[in-house]
Amino acid sequence: MAYDPNNVFARILRGEIPNRTVYEDDFVLAFEDINPQAPVHVLVIPKGAYTDLADFSARATAEELTGFFRAVAAVARQLDLVEPGFRALCNTGADAHQEVPHFHLHLFAGKPLGPMLAR
Ligand code: 5GP
Repeated sequence: MAYDPNNVFARILRGEIPNRTVYEDDFVLAFEDINPQAPVHVLVIPKGAYTDLADFSARATAEELTGFFRAVAAVARQLDLVEPGFRALCNTGADAHQEVPHFHLHLFAGKPLGPMLAR
C-alpha cells in the first residue's frame, strides 16, 4: 500500500489538525486517542511516513526503530503505566480493522483490560 500523505495522522504531524499531545521527541508524537477505549488511550506514531507495523519494521532505519520503542517506554513511564501495566496494540491491515494508514501503536491502561481479543 502506498503511503497517503493526507491521512489524518500525517495531518496531525503537520499541525493541520489539533491533538492532545502527551509526548514528543525527534522520532515520535504521542497523543490521546479521540475516541478512547480505556481510561488511558494514547497513540504513539513515528514522524516518518510508514503505513503500518509491517512497513515500519521492514523499512525504518535502526535509529527510527530504536527511537520509536524508546519513546513508547518513555510514554509508559511518564504516564506511570509500567507498574499497574498497560496493553500495546498495533492494528495492521484489513483483518485487524486498521483505520488510519499511518503506523501507530495504541497504549491502553487505567483499569484491568480483560481478555486480549474480543471473542
Ligand atoms: P486503528 O483502527 O487504525 O488502529 O486506530 C485508529 C485510531 O485513531 C482510532 O482509535 C481512532 O479513534 C483514532 N483517531 C482517528 N482520527 C483521529 C483524530 O483525528 N485524532 C485523534 N486523536 N485520534 C484519531
